[in-house]
Amino acid sequence: MPKNKMTYKEVEVECPKCGKRHPVKIYERIYATDYPLYKKMLKNNELFVFDCTETNERMTYVYPSLFQDDENNYMVLFLPGFTASDIEKTDFVDLIGLGEEEYQKMCDNYKVRVVGSINQLLEKVLIFDEEMDDRAVEIQKAMLANQVKKESGKNIHSFRFELLKDHKYGYTVTFTDNTTALIKLDMDQYYHIYLANKKMINERTPEGFAYIEAEWGVESLFAMADQFAKDKGKGKGKRKKYQ
Ligand SMILES: [Zn+2]
Repeated sequence: MPKNKMTYKEVEVECPKCGKRHPVKIYERIYATDYPLYKKMLKNNELFVFDCTETNERMTYVYPSLFQDDENNYMVLFLPGFTASDIEKTDFVDLIGLGEEEYQKMCDNYKVRVVGSINQLLEKVLIFDEEMDDRAVEIQKAMLANQVKKESGKNIHSFRFELLKDHKYGYTVTFTDNTTALIKLDMDQYYHIYLANKKMINERTPEGFAYIEAEWGVESLFAMADQFAKDKGKGKGKRKKYQ
């Protein structure tokens, strides 16, 4: 495969703390297979940062970037601040800027996702590198979140996929009171979610760059419950509504 050429733009960024201006390199497209260093940097929190020479502090600097992995065939578009409510008003063809044909090729050849934060980008990379399905992961998170809320009586701030030792996985739950908990990922449950709901999961996955985060998981869990109720109703002949 021909090596993709990675380029960068240099911009001047003002340190939000001391105001000093720094030259910062911007990578609008990251070819992680040809340049594995950048994946390593992402995992080590060294991407989307600059070091202020005045205060010696590491500052975050985010910008839109397309992260591409040709080994595990995925592309994650990082649009800082992107949320579920931005889906409707975003023209991805225009944003990628390579024309309709090239965009369609991307969507046909890669698993494509859009994320709004560095943490979300990192999580997608971890999940896809393990050849796991991010949609089944989000549904499992939604299931576990209900359980954790009930058991702990606390509100959840974030729920993140983690790599543990010996090819095992887990979820780190951060509560709104800043305490955390680590839950082991039950692989049997994960496979069951994926296999038993494959059709629904595929139907609920939007075409093109999809935003598969917590909201998607919660909505899919509702859809699963509805389906389950319907199937149960049919089996026992209990459905009351006829249309
Ligand atoms: Zn500074």
